[in-house]
Amino acid sequence: MVKICLDAGHYGKYNQSPCNKAYYESEAMWKLTEHLKEELLTYKDCEVITTRTDQTKDLALYSRGQKAKGCDLFISNHSNAVGTGINESVDYVVVYRSYKNKNNADELAMKLAKAIAETMGTKQAPRTATKKSEKGDWEYYGVLRGADDAGCPLFYIVENSFHTNPRSTEWLLKEENLRRLAQTQAKVIAKYFKLPKKTTMPSKAITPESPAEDIKWLQERLNIVLPKIYPAIPGIVPLQVDGDYGPKTRIAVLMYWDALGWGRHMNDDGKKIGVSTREALAEGRIK
Ligand SMILES: [Zn+2]
Repeated sequence: MVKICLDAGHYGKYNQSPCNKAYYESEAMWKLTEHLKEELLTYKDCEVITTRTDQTKDLALYSRGQKAKGCDLFISNHSNAVGTGINESVDYVVVYRSYKNKNNADELAMKLAKAIAETMGTKQAPRTATKKSEKGDWEYYGVLRGADDAGCPLFYIVENSFHTNPRSTEWLLKEENLRRLAQTQAKVIAKYFKLPKKTTMPSKAITPESPAEDIKWLQERLNIVLPKIYPAIPGIVPLQVDGDYGPKTRIAVLMYWDALGWGRHMNDDGKKIGVSTREALAEGRIK
């Protein structure tokens, strides 16, 4: 089980963009954090907590970091600013990590930075950075110091480019882009911790009339189990995962039933996937 602590940078209406008055760093990062939690929970063996339950309530930086106690990872999401005015040229992703490079923190930091930059299409190269306090041997940023002191092995501040940059601000204002950003971050984190994706079993019988998503689930699951049962099924497996319940999918279903010893199904046309078959597929059963 991997436990992850997410922190939305700032609260209420904080850090308004000079490029578009509709943008507040606090609001966008709150949404991003909610999406990220949802995305991470589509993976197995993953638990997610957040530093705050209410967007309008503040909590001191150090206390937010301290919430990472017992967690494997702490991530604080932000958008960056250069000066107070509009800046057309500065547009990059930076991930702050442990200045001691604790647990080789730079590895995940760089992976996050690169993937986010690719998703956002930022202008300059993605990078990682560190900041040590001038007063002593501790992290400069309060949230990171809190997470470090709490014993969290990996802690980051993710700056999803700049809200002083017009292009990035417009990008971050779109709800569907925040969702994509969350998917990107979740994917990198899941890959790093080797978390498999949860398979969500359709709740109703699957037939040729079912939603394409349900049929795709069936095709994906058949592509996992059948090659383990039959060394080769030329022309049938792998099925094209297209959401179309055609003759090949039907044959694959009949072959799967056969392998499970569920009769010859001479009278069955393989066009209805009931709960027993869905459960067998979800478990990846092969006999
Ligand atoms: Zn910030």
